[in-house]
Formats: sequence, C-alpha cells, structure tokens
Amino acid sequence: MILVKNGYVIDPENNLEGKYDILIEKGVITKIEPNIQPFAGCEVIDATEKIVCPSFVDLHVHFRDPGQTYKEDIESGSKAAVAGGYTTVVCMPNTQPALDDVPLIRYVIERGEEVGLCRVLPAGAITKGRKGRELTEMALLKDAGAVYFTDDGAPVMDSFIMRKAMEYAGSIGSFVADHCEDLNLSQNGVAHEGEIAAALGLPPLPPEAEDTMVARDCVLSIQTGMPVHICHISSRLAVEIVAWAKAMGAKVTAEVTPHHLYLTDEEFLDFSCVAKVSPPLRTHEDIEATRWALASGIIDFVATDHAPHAHHEKMQDLQVCPPGMLGLQFALPIVLELVKKDYMDLTRLVEVMSTNPAKKIGLRPPQIKVGETAEFTIFDPFETWEVNEDTILSKSKNTPLLGRKLTGKVKYTFYNGKIVYKD
Ligand SMILES: [Zn+2]
Repeated sequence: MILVKNGYVIDPENNLEGKYDILIEKGVITKIEPNIQPFAGCEVIDATEKIVCPSFVDLHVHFRDPGQTYKEDIESGSKAAVAGGYTTVVCMPNTQPALDDVPLIRYVIERGEEVGLCRVLPAGAITKGRKGRELTEMALLKDAGAVYFTDDGAPVMDSFIMRKAMEYAGSIGSFVADHCEDLNLSQNGVAHEGEIAAALGLPPLPPEAEDTMVARDCVLSIQTGMPVHICHISSRLAVEIVAWAKAMGAKVTAEVTPHHLYLTDEEFLDFSCVAKVSPPLRTHEDIEATRWALASGIIDFVATDHAPHAHHEKMQDLQVCPPGMLGLQFALPIVLELVKKDYMDLTRLVEVMSTNPAKKIGLRPPQIKVGETAEFTIFDPFETWEVNEDTILSKSKNTPLLGRKLTGKVKYTFYNGKIVYKD
C-alpha cells in the first residue's frame, strides 16, 4: 500500500483540484481524501508543496528502434520518458527500416511491453519506406496497433498523395500527421532565415517552407473533410494559418515542441550543431506566438519531438549534422515556466501535456479517481536542477540546454499501479 500525503492534486477530467491524500492498494486508487491517516505497512510519500497530476502523453518521440539503437532504444527512451513524467509515448516511424509493415508495428509494441516502464505506441508510415510515393496498408497497420500515420522526418511532398492519405486514414477512423516542410524552399538551409543566419553566414531556411505546407494541409483537410495533424508547428504565420483553418471548421490539430516554446535561433551564436533542428529554432516573436496559441487552444498540445543523436554525429559540420534535439525531460519545466509567467494555468498545463494528446489518439486519459489504476506524476514545481550528462537519461545527450538550469522536477511517476520512476 502506498499513501501519497499532502500533494496538490489536479485532474481537469474529474474536476479535481486541491490538497488531497491518495491511497493506492494493489496498484489501484482506493481513496482520495483531504486527510488519510497512515497505517502500519503503508509506504508514505510526502508530497508537500508538490503537484500530483495525471502523467503525460507524448505523441511524438524518436526512439530509433529498430535500426539506430546506438542513439536511443525503447528501453533508454522509456527511462527518459518516465523521468520526464510521461507514461505514454508514440514512436515515429522513421526508424531503419521504416515502420511501414505489420511485424515492425508489432515489434515496437511488444518491445515496449517487455521494458514495461510506460506505454510505447507506434505511428505507422504514410508511404512505403517513407519515400512519398506509395501509400502503406494503413488499415492493416492500424489493426496491428499504429495509432496514427506520418512520414515524419520528411514531409509528404506530393499533394495528390497527401490528399489520398488523408482520405484513407480518415476513412478508417485514424489521421495523418505532417512534418510540414516544402523541401524546394528549405533546400540546404540550416538556420531560420533572419538576422542571426545572415550575421553568422549560415545557409538560411525560410519560414515559408513550413508555412506553405501548413496552408496546403489545411486546405486539403477543408476540402476532404478529413483530419490532419500539424507536427511541431513553429512559425508565427503557420499559427495564424491553423487559427484560420480552425475557424473554417477544418479538423486540424497542431502540436508544439518544448524547444520551439523556449529557444531562439540565437542558440546558433556558438555555431553549435546541437542548435540544429527541423523546423529550425526561430525568433522571439515566433516563440511568443506559439506560447499564446498553446494557451488559447489554437495549438492543441505539447509534443517533444525527442530526437536523440550520437555525439559524433552532432560533432560534424553544421551542413551535414542531423537535425534534432532531446525533449522528454525538459517539457515539464518549460511548460511550467509558461504557467509561472501567466500564459496559462495548471489546468491548461495538464490538458496540453496529458488530456488532449491522449484524446487525440483515442486513448482514455490517465485519471486521478477512485477505482483507477495509479498512473500519475508527482513533481516539484520549485526544484531547480542542472541539465548535464548525468541527469539526462537518454543514450544521447544532444541538447542546447546542457549545462543550464531548469526549474520543475519530476519526483515520482506511477504507471500500471507501480512506481516506475523515483528521483
Ligand atoms: Zn518532424
């Protein structure tokens, strides 16, 4: 038996907010009351001045498994996830080989269950081999457990294929998610086209590369009546386009990453490859736009786009090093900062980190309720910690945040009735 004492409990799904004790017996929540007395044989967790909320759901991670497990694998990725307060993650299909076939979809699910720390779900590829030409057997992949479809890492450049993909996925009760980037516009760009790229002489990547694809996908969604999800939205204009599409009644949803809510293209000032990510880090104005959009509901939720790369890969020249940075352990402190700066309240934090992404894939959101299997996270909103090689639990350490301090630390994560992470 476990008794969580004196925590500030928040669960918008059950209109629960306030100081409560939570009793867990055999993994199931049996009591939520203002004051439960500890008794013999009961493990007590002191949650004084800590927040207790449903654990987080991340619809966008790269665990590199199968194929590039020197960067990350399902086990190391799961460890990073639970340390970040997450108990559900969706793995992107840009593995080697790509997740475009039933046995590969099954592999991710079964390996995730074997590791057992959290719910590891796969997204299937939209096109075979993610080559953008031939649709996968989405119905079969969905039956095998694919929770949605994306060629992430690459866009679906061909608008006709994208339209067919939207119709197919929508007709089977699923959806496609697009990595919005017009490759003809982005070319070999590295940094957001603006003052920093110009000053440093870095190959510029114009924001239209993202904006035009977001607009195309919104138009296709409006015309087909089918859903589309915009991955890692990052530009001010793209946010405006999504707002317009939503006003038009389109079934468009969008996610934003922690790094696009927090870091600007100034990270390139030391010419470091860890600042390279796709879409690129942008300006203060773009950050401001994504923050308000997340608070107001134009952006539906946070997804980390956790993208591990090995040290030797990130040591290469800016032109050739692969884009991407870690995210799972930094999302909470970054979104928490938006609460502290009054962009949003704690209820909205739980919605964008847990409830909304869960609902998007038809998963019942984790809940703090009598009769539920314990699946919640306890975090200290005031604890400051340093991002370093030891505190990062991923195999890879690629993040511009190395050496910096963040405030907000996960102390416990419960999954399937058990403690899967303890700080
Ligand atoms: Zn992407």
